[in-house]
Amino acid sequence: MTMHIKPSFYDFTLPQLEEFLTARGEKKFRASQLFKWVYAEQVRTPDNMTNLAKTFRASLPDLFNFELLKVISEKISKDGTRKYLFDVGEGMSVESVLIPGSGGRLTLCVSSEVGCNLACKFCFTGKQKLKKRLSAGEIVSQFYQIGLHLPEDQKITNIVFMGMGEPLDNPQAVFDSIDILTSDHGFSLSRKKITVSTSGIVPMIPLITKSGTRLAVSLNGSNDEVRSSVMPINKKWPINKLLEACSQHAEATKQKVTFEYVLLKGVTDKPEHAAELYNLTKKIPCKINIIPFNEHPDSGYLRPEDPTILKFQNKLINLGAQVLLRKTMGRDIYAACGQLTTLKNENKNKAISLN
Ligand code: SAH
Ligand code: SF4
Repeated sequence: MTMHIKPSFYDFTLPQLEEFLTARGEKKFRASQLFKWVYAEQVRTPDNMTNLAKTFRASLPDLFNFELLKVISEKISKDGTRKYLFDVGEGMSVESVLIPGSGGRLTLCVSSEVGCNLACKFCFTGKQKLKKRLSAGEIVSQFYQIGLHLPEDQKITNIVFMGMGEPLDNPQAVFDSIDILTSDHGFSLSRKKITVSTSGIVPMIPLITKSGTRLAVSLNGSNDEVRSSVMPINKKWPINKLLEACSQHAEATKQKVTFEYVLLKGVTDKPEHAAELYNLTKKIPCKINIIPFNEHPDSGYLRPEDPTILKFQNKLINLGAQVLLRKTMGRDIYAACGQLTTLKNENKNKAISLN
C-alpha cells in the first residue's frame, strides 16, 4: 500500500488548483468556487460549501488537507504589537508579528523560512543555518490563522515579508503565496499593500518588480566595507550593483523603495554614515527606515543610545531624506518585526500566558 499524503489546500494558486482539479475530471470553475469558500467566506468545512455538488463536496476531504498552521503561542505587547508562534512540524516554529499603525492600518510581518543562510552578523535568524523553506500554504496560513484570531472589526491591511528568512531564497513559495493572498476570488489583497524585504540577492530583485509588490532592501551599511562586515552577501553583490537594481525597480514600478537601515552602536550609527547613506540613496525615489538594533543575547552588538539615534535621524532629515523612524515595537515581547528570534524554543514548553 502506498502512503497517500494529501496536499495542503493553501499551497495551491488558483491556476494550480484548476490544473489539479481538471486532471481529476472536475470542472475548471470548481477551483474559483473553492477559493471563494475557503478564502473569501472563510469556510473550511466542505460540508458547508453549499453550492457545490454533493459528490464533489464529499470528495474534498480526501483530496486536500484544510488544516491551518497551529498557533503555539500568542503574546501581546504593551504597545499593542502581537507576536504569534506557529508550529511548522518536526519541532520547528516560525513567528509572525502583527503591528498596529495609524489610520486603522494593521500590518502583518510574515516569515518565509526557518533559519537563514545569509548569515547577517546582527540577525538572530541568521545565526541559524537554513532549516526549512516554508511552503506557500504555510505563508498563507500565517495570514489566515491570525485573521481568525482578530476581533470581527479588525482586519490585516498590509503584509511585509520581514520575518524570519530571506524571501528571495524561497521565491516560488513566496510569490505563490502572494498570488493566493491577492486573488480576486480570495482575500483580494492589493499587491501594493505587500512589501517584500530582501538582504539584496540582486539578480532576483526583478521577481519582486514583476510581482507588483513593494520592494524593501536591507542596506544596513553606508559603504562596502561596513556593509560587508555585517552582511556577507555584500561581498557577492556590492552596494553599487544593489542600488542599480533598486533604481530599476523604482523606475519600472513608479514606487518608492524602502531602505532598511539597522543602527548598530559604533558600527553603523556615526554622523558620517548618515551623510554617506543620504548620498547613496538620494537619486532613488525612496524612504529610509531607521531600525534601532533590537538586542539579543550574544549578538556582540548594542543598540545606540536614544540621542545618537535621534541625531542620525535628524541628520538624514536635514539633508532632505524621507525617513521613517519606527519606535522599536514590541520590545517587551522581544519581537520587533525583522528581529524574530528563535528563543521561542525555550518558550515552547513554558505555556505562555497570553494576556
Ligand atoms: N531577510 C530579509 C527579511 C527579513 S529581516 C532581509 O534581510 O531584508 C527584516 C529586517 O530586519 C532586515 O532589514 C534586517 O536588517 C532587520 N533585522 C534583523 N535583525 C535585527 C535586529 N536584531 N534588530 C533590528 N533589525 C534587525
Ligand atoms: Fe537572513 Fe534577513 Fe536575517 Fe540577513 S537579516 S540573516 S537575510 S533574515
